[in-house]
Amino acid sequence: MIRLEDVWKVYPHNVKALSGVTVEVTRGEFVYIVGPSGAGKSTFIRLMYREERPTKGAVFIGDTDVSTLPDKHIPLLRRKIGVVFQDFKLLQQLTVFENVAFALEVIEETPENIEKRVTEVLGLVKLEHKAKFLPSELSGGEQQRVAIARAVANKPEVLIADEPTGNLDPDTAWTIMDVLDNIHQLGTTVIMATHNKEIVNTRKRRVIAIADGRILRDEARGNYAYEY
Ligand code: ADP
Ligand code: ADP
Repeated sequence: MIRLEDVWKVYPHNVKALSGVTVEVTRGEFVYIVGPSGAGKSTFIRLMYREERPTKGAVFIGDTDVSTLPDKHIPLLRRKIGVVFQDFKLLQQLTVFENVAFALEVIEETPENIEKRVTEVLGLVKLEHKAKFLPSELSGGEQQRVAIARAVANKPEVLIADEPTGNLDPDTAWTIMDVLDNIHQLGTTVIMATHNKEIVNTRKRRVIAIADGRILRDEARGNYAYEY
């Protein structure tokens, strides 16, 4: 599903964010990416949805090497990959419904299909009753659930989450994990960068630990292990 082959990312001033990373994620996996601040986790994630290009190496999503993908094909890639951020990134002037619908409008769905799918995904994150609310009228946990609904509206094969619980209190963080688990159980491959030690150690899954731009550990049912 996802394969990085000897991936290097060097930012200006010779900052090596990733140094020769090779890793594979199989369809249907749920993977945590852990590591200290500055380890390269966000860079790893940004390479997958082509927010960045590697300095060297290949990044395959399915059969496509996204590192050489022409810009005009990026929208097609983004239909295969949903992304969720720590700070939600909702459009503040649009309602919950409109935020989710927007993701579908840009890929030219019919109004009928949009209405149907938005209702469906708002149901999935249990926010049908807040469809007409603005983001500012929601709690942090609810805003993140809207962001997740938006990210999966296109039924992407992969959901990438960069610190999705980073701005949330512990109880709310668990409700977000429940939503991500549901999406995973529907068959979506999930990749989640996190500092949430409790979640990683409680809901055991594959853990890829990155430090200083390299993969330090890759364990099937790993631990958070270190104090980052
Ligand atoms: P993490 O997500 O694990 O905190 P990042 O991937 O954000 O790590 O950062 C890895 C390294 O790359 C850090 O040294 C960071 O300062 C640097 N870096 C990240 N993004 C950029 C950028 N856009 N330009 C320059 N340096 C960057
Ligand atoms: P959570 O348990 O998800 O953290 P909160 O206790 O923060 O939720 O919020 C409880 C309810 O109050 C939510 O349903 C939310 O819609 C509403 N709410 C939270 N913040 C605001 C706000 N700034 N304006 C209007 N309603 C709000």
